[in-house]
Amino acid sequence: MKIQNYINGGFVNPIQNNWIDNYNPSNGEIYGQIPNSSSKDVELAYESAKKAFPSWSKMTLEHRSRILIKISELLEANLEQFAAAESKDNGKPLSLAKKIDIPRAASNFRFFGNAITQFASESHESIGQGAINYTLRQPIGVVGCISPWNLPLYLFTWKIAPAIAAGNCVVAKPSEITPMTAYLLGEICTKAGLPKGVLNIVHGLGTTTGQVIVAHPDIKAISFTGGTATGAHIARVAAPMFKKLSLELGGKNPNIIFADCDYDDMLETSVRSSFTNQGQICLCGSRIFVEASIYNRFKKDFVEKVKQLKVGHPSDASTNIGALVSKPHLEKVAEYIEIAKEENGKVLCGGEIVTVKGSENGYYLQPTVIEVPTDECRVNQEEIFGPVVTIMPFNTEEEVLEMANKVKYGLSTTLWTNDLKRTMRMSTQLQSGIVWVNTWMMRDLRTPFGGVKASGVGREGGFEALRFFTEAKNVCIKYE
Ligand code: NAD
Repeated sequence: MKIQNYINGGFVNPIQNNWIDNYNPSNGEIYGQIPNSSSKDVELAYESAKKAFPSWSKMTLEHRSRILIKISELLEANLEQFAAAESKDNGKPLSLAKKIDIPRAASNFRFFGNAITQFASESHESIGQGAINYTLRQPIGVVGCISPWNLPLYLFTWKIAPAIAAGNCVVAKPSEITPMTAYLLGEICTKAGLPKGVLNIVHGLGTTTGQVIVAHPDIKAISFTGGTATGAHIARVAAPMFKKLSLELGGKNPNIIFADCDYDDMLETSVRSSFTNQGQICLCGSRIFVEASIYNRFKKDFVEKVKQLKVGHPSDASTNIGALVSKPHLEKVAEYIEIAKEENGKVLCGGEIVTVKGSENGYYLQPTVIEVPTDECRVNQEEIFGPVVTIMPFNTEEEVLEMANKVKYGLSTTLWTNDLKRTMRMSTQLQSGIVWVNTWMMRDLRTPFGGVKASGVGREGGFEALRFFTEAKNVCIKYE
């Protein structure tokens, strides 16, 4: 099947008739084609967004909110179709797409549809100077949203929803590796009554379509989620043009386990935080540090549980681990397992490519646990973004804190302990945008989301996102 760009409320072919193959990771087959949009397509999308902006930005908040909530309802009503498309495109278990990806995409629209009605600006009375200041929060105009393949609709809508809620018009590009649900979203938006041109979705490669969006002189803000190297490149292009930038990038997150934790809860959650979505979540805890006194017990129990995870076809209800997203990605992840061995890492379980009966050419890999001799080895420092975790013991709080912080990334940390003072001490010192204590990936959409160091710049979520997608203007009125 061929999918099309969604521009000015309708579906159109790419002007230069350039297409890219779309693969089904569960069986390695090409099952469709997507536009590889050129600057002409991006220009068309931009012009349509520009035209829509004056009336969309002036639409009452109640009306805007109602449309966003309607999109959310339509996503929920079409859950089965969207989840099936997401699973086929990405290789993730269908059960996961149904439980997490699509419900969360719906929540994103509902959340920002509501949040915009509560978004308020400040006023400051300049006492003694006879003046009052108030802040206008005005939409930026046309903004660009670029998202990755790991949580396709979830992250695409995490950007689009606040952007349009705040009154902007959008030129958006999903990952070329997982374009399907973004394509389906267009139809939902039209049905929900989103005016033409408010959201324009252009498909294509990062280096062609994405690059043109980022470099477009009149697209004034870029919200990007993806790899750190891509983020650095985008910053180099956009910064000299003084664009607003939100960059949500890679991670190499520590999962720190103290002996005084609730063991069973920790064990079950650590399996999830390691391998959910084939380990392809920027928030996965890929470096596991365990207090020495419980290290051997944890190692045995954890490996036993990981061995029980079933690798299988994404649509099989009993599958825990589906296919990795693409052949190059599978090869990259498998290569890291070889690197680990060269660095004297010990593969405690997994490590092999899996052949799934009936889907022999799919991209499957066993969930893999590697015991590493030092935290400084490459598999402990570099983002692998697959079903591979490292484990090693630690002796003191100071030691584990140092190891946790000794990577270039700083997205999230999970901390397992029942010691309140330790929780407080460590939370202040961990170099990471998020600290989960005795839980993982528990999300409240009102909270700031983002990373430090090479994990990115800026925060999304809640009012942070609405602040990003608006310009603050100070109005000072002298009344005396
Ligand atoms: P990627 O950087 O290769 O691609 C992300 C998006 O950027 C895609 O849509 C791609 O087409 C586009 N792109 C690529 N080059 C571009 C360019 N020069 N100009 C403009 N756009 C360009 O990342 P990926 O492989 O799709 O995703 C995996 C990465 O995303 C991992 O590093 C992961 O940690 C990160 N990620 C981060 C978060 C977060 O919230 N911090 C969430 C999910 C994924």
